[in-house]
Amino acid sequence: MTTTLIDNIGLLVTNDPSNGDRSVLGIVRDAAMVIGADRVMWVGRRARAPEADSRVDLDRQTVVPGFVDSHSHLIFAADRAEEFVARMAGTPYTAGGISATLIATREASDDTLRLNASRLVAEMASSGTTTVEIKSGYGLTTDDEVRGLAVAHSLTPESTYLGAHVVPIEFQGRRADYVSLVAGSMLDACAPAARWIDVFCDRGAFDVDEARVILQAGIARGLLPRLHAHQLERTGAVQLGVQLDAASVDHCNHMNDADVDALAGSATVATVLPGADFSTRSGYADARRMIDAGVVVALATDCNPGSSYTTSMPFCIAVAVRDMHMTPAEALWSATAGGARALRRDDIGVLAVGKRADFAVIAAPSYVHLAYRPGVALVSATWKSAR
Ligand SMILES: [Zn+2]
Repeated sequence: MTTTLIDNIGLLVTNDPSNGDRSVLGIVRDAAMVIGADRVMWVGRRARAPEADSRVDLDRQTVVPGFVDSHSHLIFAADRAEEFVARMAGTPYTAGGISATLIATREASDDTLRLNASRLVAEMASSGTTTVEIKSGYGLTTDDEVRGLAVAHSLTPESTYLGAHVVPIEFQGRRADYVSLVAGSMLDACAPAARWIDVFCDRGAFDVDEARVILQAGIARGLLPRLHAHQLERTGAVQLGVQLDAASVDHCNHMNDADVDALAGSATVATVLPGADFSTRSGYADARRMIDAGVVVALATDCNPGSSYTTSMPFCIAVAVRDMHMTPAEALWSATAGGARALRRDDIGVLAVGKRADFAVIAAPSYVHLAYRPGVALVSATWKSAR
């Protein structure tokens, strides 16, 4: 195995409180790292760094764990720019727009879907993302969900079956039949290429009872549950997520005290999606309130053509700080270690010996610049699995 010394790091965020300054971010100044195979082999002050086969000088830039984007919808064709224009002119966002993407996605070839998703994953990597969760859900026939998941699974181990995105138009008036399909033969066909099962549980999509049936069927097939919850209204989906030990409930815009308390006492993460709130001009999820109550909060892009067409975690960090009142440190943690928790992963989101050598190099003296300099491409390099 060859080793590489990542040297002359001005400020290193490890997310390892036992390291560095003992804060949650575990900051080490004047730092270095040795990486080999796909792992971190040594972390510390550069003055004490061991020898390695090769050396990369980062010229005092900042290093942070690679962003973990735990919520995206990348399997689709076409875009919905016109819908965005209408929304900015005052048309409210509804779940119904998903149908427009459905038609284009069903007509698209496998190659078109693969190329589009790959392009978006590359875009994510260029802004520092090293792990991404990808959902199906723009096919909504068994064949289209299977081919969507095949693309997702080829790009990430964190692939999610979202047959329950909306009830497609051909099942209008036959909701129960569609729920049976999603929880039955469509699930059977999709499960081999999925790690997760998700339900869009909200107004215009699926209710809590339907979501429970679908998620329990997925759990019985060995999939792990997560769900879209309380984006448009308070449905009870957050409590359902806690009851089912979902890894994450995502959006969390409409929350009462009981919802927040339930999350705080659970292993379920609240994933907030500032890009969606920004792009739909909705009220922001109250991340401040949840963090203060002891809820573990993750940040993700929700990248999708309808409500949040951004791949940029730095953008989400900036908006989370500006509009969700997270501190820059909290936002960075939520975009890295928080995302890892939302995917129930302990090998990513932290830079410590034995963890994956996944990190982003920030051309700035501190991670704070991610929020302080919004819209500026500060990520100068992204390393995944030590490459
Ligand atoms: Zn989503």
